[in-house]
Amino acid sequence: MRGSSMTDIGAFNEKLVLQTIRSAPDGIGQAEVVRRSQLSRQAVSLIARRLLADGLVEQAGTRISGPGKPHTLLRVVADARLAIGVHLDPAHIAVVICDLAARPVARTTLAPPTEDPRADLERVAGAIAELSRSLGASGPVPGEGEAVLSTHRRLLGIGIAAPAGLDADAGILRNPPWIPGWRDVPVVDALSAVTGLPATLDKDTNAALTGEIWTRHLDAAQTILYLYVGHGVGSAVSGGGRVHRGGSTQAGEIGHLPIGRADRICSCGRHGCQSLYTDAHVLVAAAREAGIAMSGKVGTTAALHALATAAADGSEAARAIIGSHASALGEAILILAGVHDPQRIIIGGPTWPALRDVGEAEVRRVLGDWLEDTAGVLESSHLGDDVGAIGAASLFLEQELAPGTGAPVGT
Ligand SMILES: [Zn+2]
Repeated sequence: MRGSSMTDIGAFNEKLVLQTIRSAPDGIGQAEVVRRSQLSRQAVSLIARRLLADGLVEQAGTRISGPGKPHTLLRVVADARLAIGVHLDPAHIAVVICDLAARPVARTTLAPPTEDPRADLERVAGAIAELSRSLGASGPVPGEGEAVLSTHRRLLGIGIAAPAGLDADAGILRNPPWIPGWRDVPVVDALSAVTGLPATLDKDTNAALTGEIWTRHLDAAQTILYLYVGHGVGSAVSGGGRVHRGGSTQAGEIGHLPIGRADRICSCGRHGCQSLYTDAHVLVAAAREAGIAMSGKVGTTAALHALATAAADGSEAARAIIGSHASALGEAILILAGVHDPQRIIIGGPTWPALRDVGEAEVRRVLGDWLEDTAGVLESSHLGDDVGAIGAASLFLEQELAPGTGAPVGT
C-alpha cells in the first residue's frame, strides 16, 4: 500500500460522509447521514455541499417520512470517478475499469504472465490506455457544470492483485511461486510511471475479499472468512471492515495446512497438506486419469471447464472428482472457522465458478454441524470470473475513499 493522496476528498469526515451515502444506493436523507456518521449537522451539510459541487453525489428526489417537510435524498454518482483493476493470475491477466460501486464499465483479458515481466507490464499499460480511450469516446459523464470530467480526470488510480509472494508496502512482487518469472518486480512503480496514476498492490485473496465488502456494503462489524479458489487455495479474513494482512502480506497462506488426511505426503515433509487435494492441477490430473474428455493438450482453465461441463452433463466420475476437491476444501474451512470464528464464509476465486454447482453443496455438508451451531452464513461469491480484477479496483477505491480506522475529527 503505497502513499498516494486524493486531495479533492482527503479529510476523514468527508470520506465518512461519502461512505455513509454510498452504503445507501437508493438515496439517503441528510438527517440519516448525521445519525449514522455521528458527525454534526453543520459538518454533514458542509461536506454534502462540497460532494455535490464535486459531482461525487447527486440529489435523488425527496422522501416524505412523518410530519414536516419532505427531505432531499442524496446518492453517490457511481461513474463520477473510476478505478482500474489489474489481476495478475497464472491463467491470464485481467484488466477492468470500475465505477465507484466497483462495477466494471470496461474490461479486457490478456494472455498469462510470461517470463518477461517488462513486456507483460507494457501489455498491461497498453490495455489500460485502450480501455480509457474506449470510455473517453463515449463522451463526458453526465452532470452539471464543473462536475463534468474527462475520463482521464475521472481515473483515480490502479489496484493490482497478484498471487502470494509479494511485498504490499513496497509494491513489489518478490517471488510469487505461481508466476515464476517475476522476481523482485516493482509493479506499483512501473505501472505508475507509464500511466501517471497512483497504484497499490495486494494479494489476490485480499483483493477478492475487499471487492466483496466494497460491492455489497457488508456489515463492517462482522468477521468474514474468504476462500480464494484459483490455481491454489488461499484464504483471507476481515474484521471491522478491514482485511488482516499480517506482517509480511503472508496471512492466509494455507497451502500447507494439514487437513487431517494421511494418504498423501507433501514436499514439505508432512502428510495431508491442503494443497495436495485442492490445487487446480490436482483436479485436472484426476480428470485426465478418469478419462474425462479433454481434447489434446489444453490449459488448466479449459480443462476445468471441460470437467465442469462433464459434471453438469451427469458424469458421475466428474462429480466425484469435484466433490472430493470440495470435501478437502470443506475440511480446511472447518479448521479456519475454528481459528477465526467468522459470521460469514465466502468462497470465490477464478476457479470456483466452474466448481460451485457441485462443490458448494459438498462444502456445506462438511460444515453442517458448524453452520447449525453458529448460525454462520456460507455462500459463494457473486463476483464471478472477474473477482480478482474487480477486487483489485476495490483495493484502490478502499484505500482512497474509505475513512479508515482513525477517529472522526472536528465533529
Ligand atoms: Zn505441505
